Amino acid sequence: MTEQAPPAGPPDLAPKHELVSAEPGSTPAASRARVGAAAVSTGGISAADVGTADVSLPGASTADASSVTADTADVIVVGAGPAGSAASYYLAAAGLDVLMLEKTSFPREKVCGDGLTPRAVKALTAMGVPIAESDGWLRNKGLRIIGGGGRIELDWPELSSYPGYGMVRTRTDFDQILARHAQKAGARLVEGANVTNPLLDDRTGRITGVTTKDGRQYRGRLVVAADGNSSRLSVAMGLHKRDDRPLGVAVRTYYTSPRHNDDYLEAWLDLWDGNSLLPGYGWIFGMGDGTSNVGLGLLNTSTGFGEIDYRVLLRKWLAAMPAEWGFTEENRTQPVRGAALPMGFNRTPHYTKGLLLAGDAGGMVNPFNGEGIAYALEAGELAAGVITQALARPTAAGRERVLQTYPRQLKDAYGGYYTLGRIFVDLIGKPSIMQFCTRHGVKRPAVMRFTMKLLGNLTETRGGDAVDRLLNAVSKMTPAA
Ligand SMILES: Cc1cc2nc3c(=O)[nH]c(=O)nc-3n(C[C@H](O)[C@H](O)[C@H](O)COP(=O)(O)OP(=O)(O)OC[C@H]3O[C@@H](n4cnc5c(N)ncnc54)[C@H](O)[C@@H]3O)c2cc1C
Repeated sequence: MTEQAPPAGPPDLAPKHELVSAEPGSTPAASRARVGAAAVSTGGISAADVGTADVSLPGASTADASSVTADTADVIVVGAGPAGSAASYYLAAAGLDVLMLEKTSFPREKVCGDGLTPRAVKALTAMGVPIAESDGWLRNKGLRIIGGGGRIELDWPELSSYPGYGMVRTRTDFDQILARHAQKAGARLVEGANVTNPLLDDRTGRITGVTTKDGRQYRGRLVVAADGNSSRLSVAMGLHKRDDRPLGVAVRTYYTSPRHNDDYLEAWLDLWDGNSLLPGYGWIFGMGDGTSNVGLGLLNTSTGFGEIDYRVLLRKWLAAMPAEWGFTEENRTQPVRGAALPMGFNRTPHYTKGLLLAGDAGGMVNPFNGEGIAYALEAGELAAGVITQALARPTAAGRERVLQTYPRQLKDAYGGYYTLGRIFVDLIGKPSIMQFCTRHGVKRPAVMRFTMKLLGNLTETRGGDAVDRLLNAVSKMTPAA
């Protein structure tokens, strides 16, 4: 198959629009969303629902071309986690035809601490996600850090760049809210669509779409891999994880607890493996629904990283907690589940041959604190901005020039900071350094306020106080990861 110059606009879905009554002020993309939503509510997606056509597709990975259907969009987004939903929201808002393919069906669980820093709150606000407490969001004032015999409560910094509060929300709710928000903006969503392979242009090797496990094919002018840590799609495009970047592993569960209404996120630095203080932390995040999300995460820079039994470590850590907090087996409401945290750009390049990587697929978790949601949301927005500009260019060369800026924009935003993060995780991987920092840091409020801004990546983007200026300058001067 030879690559054709893509059509100038979205594929022709005009007959479908006639079936949908347009609300005042709704965009063409929004009309398409309602078509897609109808498909979701009827439990599946059919050719009639979204304008698919039976076509033969050379280069397809499924053998029987006569039985496959192809659906087209300007952009295919694989994965409807925070990165995929944010990218889809912004693409649809810009008037593009977006098709989100999600392996699971909402509502669904995602292993996470459920903690949202002010950085994530800012990103949600920018997307117009309703985040009032009456909508079920529990706000928090800051971080309580316990370790080295000390305990300190640090309020989130008051900045013009970020709100002074964080939030919690179970991922079962959170991811569904975001996906529906993207749909409202006009993105189409197919749930239960497990993407297995890219469709490639024979001549250029460029991605032209994807196939799903059920043999369907979806074509787009560009594809976003937002399929999380394992990113099967990236791997199929030859993009593997980098061993020279940090990786975390974290486990979590839920307990019914009287501490469920805690208005601080709590982090414990005392995780011991025998006499060694481990690089990582345990957390207790009250969910406001009678339960606390309790878990721990460790970095791969400790010597015993591969051998640690996380469930045992969790049990030992919790055994030292006051009984009245209720973190006991009888009160556990969920299994202990774990997953990897891909950090500091552990999969690159973030753009190649028509594919953009966003969120965990591109290893965008902050190495300093294990936060990934804010970065997934931000990367989704960045990717959407680049795609929107690229698709407006009339020539393939022009489009490519714009697309190549995506990795550069990511590096400008996080590169230096993530390099610092790599140095940080190497340092705290040494038990003596971790011990020194914990013992001497936690008791010193000024040190901890600095640490909070550094670890949370929460500085004024311009100006700010001496700490903000120092951290921004060091991040800028540090070569990008
Ligand atoms: C134990 C633990 C605790 C954590 N705690 C926090 C925290 O408190 N705060 C925080 O900010 N971050 C936390 N993180 C990190 C955070 O969960 C991730 O960084 C974040 O979910 C990344 O979002 P994403 O959209 O890139 O990927 P994901 O959230 O993983 O979403 C990927 C989506 O793609 C779908 N998908 C996967 N494969 C396919 C396929 N083949 N076809 C179609 N769809 C596919 C998945 O079903 C999923 O919906 C934690 C992680 C772990 C493991």
